Amino acid sequence: MREFRLYNTLTRSVEPFAPADGKTVRIYSCGPTVYNPAHLGNFRTFLFVDLLRRALRLHGWRVHQVMNLTDVDDKIIRRAAEQGKTISEVTEPVAEIFFQDRDYLRIEPAEEYPKATDYVPQMVALVARLIEKGIAYKAEDGSVYFAIDRFPSYGRLSRLDRREIKTGARVAQDDYSKENAQDFALWKAAKPEDERARAAWDSPWGRGRPGWHLECSAMAIDLLGETLDIHCGGIDLIFPHHEDEIAQSEAATGRPFSRFWCHGAFLLTEGAKMAKRIGNVTTVKDMRESRIQAAAVRRFVFNTHYRKELNLTEEALEASIDAVLRIGIFAERLRGATSGTPALGQAADQLTQDVESALFDDLNAPEAIAALSVFITRANAELDRRGNDADALAKARAAFERVNGVLDVVPDAVVDSTLASWVEGQLEARKAARARRDFATADRIRAELEERDVMIEDTPSGTKWRVAR
Ligand SMILES: [Zn+2]
Repeated sequence: MREFRLYNTLTRSVEPFAPADGKTVRIYSCGPTVYNPAHLGNFRTFLFVDLLRRALRLHGWRVHQVMNLTDVDDKIIRRAAEQGKTISEVTEPVAEIFFQDRDYLRIEPAEEYPKATDYVPQMVALVARLIEKGIAYKAEDGSVYFAIDRFPSYGRLSRLDRREIKTGARVAQDDYSKENAQDFALWKAAKPEDERARAAWDSPWGRGRPGWHLECSAMAIDLLGETLDIHCGGIDLIFPHHEDEIAQSEAATGRPFSRFWCHGAFLLTEGAKMAKRIGNVTTVKDMRESRIQAAAVRRFVFNTHYRKELNLTEEALEASIDAVLRIGIFAERLRGATSGTPALGQAADQLTQDVESALFDDLNAPEAIAALSVFITRANAELDRRGNDADALAKARAAFERVNGVLDVVPDAVVDSTLASWVEGQLEARKAARARRDFATADRIRAELEERDVMIEDTPSGTKWRVAR
């Protein structure tokens, strides 16, 4: 098997990767704060993790991934107070949307989705360990803080020096009394609104609630052990979140918290202007409701390397909609084919080889997508030749399935020729109705088309149509 290489933020370099036990990759990925439906930007990170786990499995390893749901934090408590609700009444419907979005985008479920509020005893135990070691202290306000001066390697992941850390730390001196402004809260003393929202628990330091960074350390160690294979998240989490996770975990256990740290770059949606055909989408829920093919979203996201910034533009999304349509039509053709040629078998071998070398080299999905496109062109030409090599056809199907098992870019509904000719006929009838100003008929035809998931758009160059999910 080819070597698997992955960029490690800890060393700022691409390194050979294999799980510590040689079999199962233990991944912890920071999940959503279930406060608002997640934006596309959040889901770009989750899609990157999906790509990572599928590529690791393609290599032959098992994956044990844990993704947390942050269901207690300041914003959640504030909303609960505003609406007279408990935190779980605020978070549960949002968590539901998160899972629907995940399924829509075909993101493989993680093995576990722990909720922070279910792991408070483990968090309390971790804080107790840190106090015992003299690295954490209880302040006058009843909160417990991590003293970063007592953890010499603080800042190693983000490579910030002390002065930068000082200016970067979110200082909340009004709320909390700490020894140093940059010390971060492990445990926050309960306020009356926390109690009302049921966001307070007992601890040896009095009633309170866990800090955000603490959640991830406690759940990761509890579910995956003291040293993870890979910890991942968005690039915005490097500081302070991941820096603080490392500090708490390593100060408590005395072991490296994670062997690899992997971070996905941003998706820029700001200023993304979407015309009517796509609609204004800022959340995945919007995308789902606009019936944009998940395959197209995946292809759009994967067509840029995960460590490069990605701009959401209508052109790019449109290009992906067209690209996956071609992939879908090919998938149907391959399914319906009865035989192939020896050259089809060679193209299949080439596809497997190219895709593996791309994905195992720091998840180079754009290169894998390009290889798939080359394969489709070659395979279509070979299928036109109508050979009689059944093994080659089987090989082509297997290679295509294997690659699509990682990218997952075949759309749900592909236009078949019967549907296409029916749609064309309907559009002709609609055009005629409009010409004679019979708008009732034109509208009825449009409704019939939409009933069959055909979305239409009138443009200066004629009526365009496409099939939604
Ligand atoms: Zn985290």
